[in-house]
Amino acid sequence: TTTVRPTSKPGKVTVAGVTLSSPDKVLWPAVGDRPAITKADLARYYEAAAERILPHVADRPTSIIRAPEGIGGEMFFQRHAMSGSNPRLKLIDVKARTPYVAAVDVGGLVAIGQSGGLELHPWGCKPGDPETPEQITFDLDPDEGLDFADVIAAAKVVKARLEGLGLTPFVKTTGGKGLHVVAPIKTDARSRVTWDQNKAFAKAVSEAIRVDAPDRFTTTLAKKARGGKIFIDYLRNGRMATAVAPWSPRARPGAGIAFPLSWDQVKPGLDPAAFNLWTYPALLKKSDPWADFRASAANLRPALKKMGL
Ligand code: ATP
Ligand code: MN
Ligand code: MN
Repeated sequence: TTTVRPTSKPGKVTVAGVTLSSPDKVLWPAVGDRPAITKADLARYYEAAAERILPHVADRPTSIIRAPEGIGGEMFFQRHAMSGSNPRLKLIDVKARTPYVAAVDVGGLVAIGQSGGLELHPWGCKPGDPETPEQITFDLDPDEGLDFADVIAAAKVVKARLEGLGLTPFVKTTGGKGLHVVAPIKTDARSRVTWDQNKAFAKAVSEAIRVDAPDRFTTTLAKKARGGKIFIDYLRNGRMATAVAPWSPRARPGAGIAFPLSWDQVKPGLDPAAFNLWTYPALLKKSDPWADFRASAANLRPALKKMGL
């Protein structure tokens, strides 16, 4: 339930115990009959969606795209804790110069919103353990000119390949142009892999997909290699690499949300723009197609062997 109560200072609201400055600041402008989205709206979104977001971000170092003046203003990618970091956020030592930040609870998410944090980009690590990967992400990036139907077809190719290796792939929209196919992996002492193994696996699988259909897929980062193809971006799988979190808003026109789907939804007619900060109340009422994400984790070690790694 949403708690928005005025505090003694006029113009301030408190959400999940976090007092917002400039709650009426417009972060996404109005579009047609859809009203502008303010900082208070964003904070209420984080509070309402916390149960769906936290399983995927809590206690992982999280880079944040901040746009304190809204999507028309200056934006920056915040990786490290900054001075004056909200006490509701946890600092995580990742053996870097400065600690990274993580949300651990709803107050942390709202604190990110309070600071103009519009996008959440966590590491793919186990909660509380930055050195252990817990998922593999295939970031499908279509060349300009491709249809979303091509991205859908590509996601199904990746799905089949991963299932053949004993993994259980999930799929989400990004709030942008592509899809992410994500497979959870086990992190117990007998199954855990290193970041290098995680990335090598993602690269090997991507290369195998490209070799099978070189006219449809590329694994080369350079934009000019894309020529009408889907770039399978496997670089999301190393230490410190991030991918946008399920349910993260995007700091782009349309206020899209990176939205977790069931595979049944991944078919012609799927419109990723339908998942956004205006439509989320209805989306939250539906059951979570990623509810079994962690429970579906597979041991990557046999899959590494199958790939000759
Ligand atoms: P789209 O579907 O439009 O490609 P996306 O989130 O997949 O959306 P990408 O550009 O493919 O966008 O990036 C994939 C992921 O890599 C992002 O979700 C983000 O976590 C990370 N990333 C992208 N750009 C940067 C950057 N400049 N610095 C750090 N991480 C980035
Ligand atoms: Mn992408
Ligand atoms: Mn990418």
